[in-house]
Amino acid sequence: RRTMLVVGNWKMHGVSGDMPEIEAIAAVARDTASVDSGLCLPATLIERAVRAVPGFPIGAQDLHQADRGAHTGCTSAEMLADAGATMAIVGHSERREAQCESDADVRAKAQAGLAAGLLTILCVGESLDVREAGDAVATVGGQLEASLPAVDDIGRLAVAYEPIWAIGTGKTATAADIGEMHGALRQRLLAVYGDKGAGVRILYGGSVKAANAAEIFAVDDVDGALVGGASLKAADFVPIIEAAA
Ligand code: 13P
Repeated sequence: RRTMLVVGNWKMHGVSGDMPEIEAIAAVARDTASVDSGLCLPATLIERAVRAVPGFPIGAQDLHQADRGAHTGCTSAEMLADAGATMAIVGHSERREAQCESDADVRAKAQAGLAAGLLTILCVGESLDVREAGDAVATVGGQLEASLPAVDDIGRLAVAYEPIWAIGTGKTATAADIGEMHGALRQRLLAVYGDKGAGVRILYGGSVKAANAAEIFAVDDVDGALVGGASLKAADFVPIIEAAA
């Protein structure tokens, strides 16, 4: 089976005083070698964390699709890799919404992330309206196909299914709904990439915590988690990594 991948997304949280949490998480991650794990940090903490926890994957939460240029305030995949990042999230729903990122933008970002050698986590997910209308599987499948990188080398691509209504709300999708969605996303990956699509890890995200992680990880085609709030403290995140082992 695919190696489980558990990644924390710190969003706009974290200053230098939080380094002890990063060090504590990295120490456990090193002892849990059967699980791939890492933290996607605010850009301001990346280089500091890379130096503090060598060998533990540190990533970014976004990147710009161009290598360089007149893009005030943006950071390229090449720059992130240069700072020591080995991962990046692209297409998070908070950016699709607040920064108006389209599927085409997300595809370009995913391609840039892979080209820079980053483990690139491409996020998709539906709103509550879409879920309640019964259109979640078709909508998210379409969003995935329109966002997937059009490249052959997808060895460092991962997908994260994050229902928007489950993010930061304490609500999670049921195991049955997660299984249905991940199965459908797997079929899309196989349709687009052929056999190679079987190697792409599909993470679940949305109010994952120690209390529900084991149940979610037991679902077919769930290959790990993208964790927000519960990744900020080692005491909360470590049990989630351990549940994946
Ligand atoms: P929460 O785990 O805080 O619900 O956030 C999920 C998320 O958006 C991770 O990218």
